[in-house]
Amino acid sequence: MPSGTILVINCGSSSIKFALVNPDAQAFALSGLAERLGSPDAVLHWQAAGQKHTRAIATADHRAALAQLLPLVQQAAGEQLLGIGHRVVHGGEHFTSASLINPQTLAAIRQTAPLAPLHNPANLQGIEAALALFPELPQVAVFDTAFHQSLPEHAYRYALPEVLYREHGVRRYGFHGTSHRYVSLRAAELSGLPVTDSSWLSAHLGNGCSTCAIVNGQSRDTSMGLTPLEGLAMGTRSGDVDPNLFGHLSRTLDWSLEQIEHMLNHDSGLLGLSGLSNDMRSLEQARAKGHPGATLAIEVFCYRLAKSLAAMGCALPRLDGLIFTGGIGENSALVRSKTLEHLQLLNLRLDPAANLACVGGNSGPIELQGHTRVLVIATNEERQIALDTLAAINTVALPN
Ligand code: AMP
Repeated sequence: MPSGTILVINCGSSSIKFALVNPDAQAFALSGLAERLGSPDAVLHWQAAGQKHTRAIATADHRAALAQLLPLVQQAAGEQLLGIGHRVVHGGEHFTSASLINPQTLAAIRQTAPLAPLHNPANLQGIEAALALFPELPQVAVFDTAFHQSLPEHAYRYALPEVLYREHGVRRYGFHGTSHRYVSLRAAELSGLPVTDSSWLSAHLGNGCSTCAIVNGQSRDTSMGLTPLEGLAMGTRSGDVDPNLFGHLSRTLDWSLEQIEHMLNHDSGLLGLSGLSNDMRSLEQARAKGHPGATLAIEVFCYRLAKSLAAMGCALPRLDGLIFTGGIGENSALVRSKTLEHLQLLNLRLDPAANLACVGGNSGPIELQGHTRVLVIATNEERQIALDTLAAINTVALPN
């Protein structure tokens, strides 16, 4: 596949993360973040050639921020810029892989917006702004959900009336697909196993957290569902609760739907349990000083993670290894060791010294000799989005 540079864009409702990725190089030629868009405090941070820069871009919207980015991209990429890859959160059942952006793709992303009302409209804003500013470049949508379209029906269906699935798309979709895919490919590479004959459990632990069972390069089950709220306890998200909680809180406390959704998404998880913070670093420090809320939050987080990994094991024919990734997975020796204390049934045991050494960007195997492989792998969603974008561009460019 011919190489080249891809601009990777990840738009939130008031932010744009970006990176200029050349798959032949480890470091990004340019990367940064525009945040607080639409407000007087809007600001653009970027890093290029080892230098950090910040520029105030008061009241800039997505398009204005991308326009500020344009000369920086041109300067860093020159003639090498081959296309733009957009992270899109929800591709519904429509997208099983990355897709070149055209009117049909845009319409399908728009149709999927009810499933991701906060994310897809923001992603679309970024795409439309980039199409206006870079009309000559091919642009590709890379979906968080696409990797999980290989789930078998028994894993993606809820035990609900069929009409809700058939007519309203109520099913499990899964998220973090780009990250689970990237780290499972890296795990096979690092272990000398062919991707097409490998079997992994993966735990992506960042502000959002999910587990995934990956067999022969395909997702077979994952912990997030219709929305990114299902599954593990996360920074501020509850993960699984009894669905009757909605009725219970409505009847006993007279809470509205919006209040309950807000509580489950923003006031729960590590923050809700600890009463202190959604940030694992702060919780580890507080736990070391004996803070009971922080101690409990970490215990619940690790036990639920272990329980989810054990459940994901049902989707595997065998276990070639467990992968930890994301800010917590890549850095927290405490979370890794506490989680594995609950998983001795799966022959998972850590080498304490190797576990402690894998922090701050150090990756590698951390299992005790004679036990199932455990790998810490730094995720790199930007790189995977760039690779998928290049593949989509080249597939279309190939002659019949
Ligand atoms: P991410 O969303 O992937 O950036 O991950 C964010 C999470 O990673 C936050 O909970 C951070 O506290 C956590 N994290 C980052 N560095 C560390 C560290 N050195 N030790 C523990 N947790 C960390």
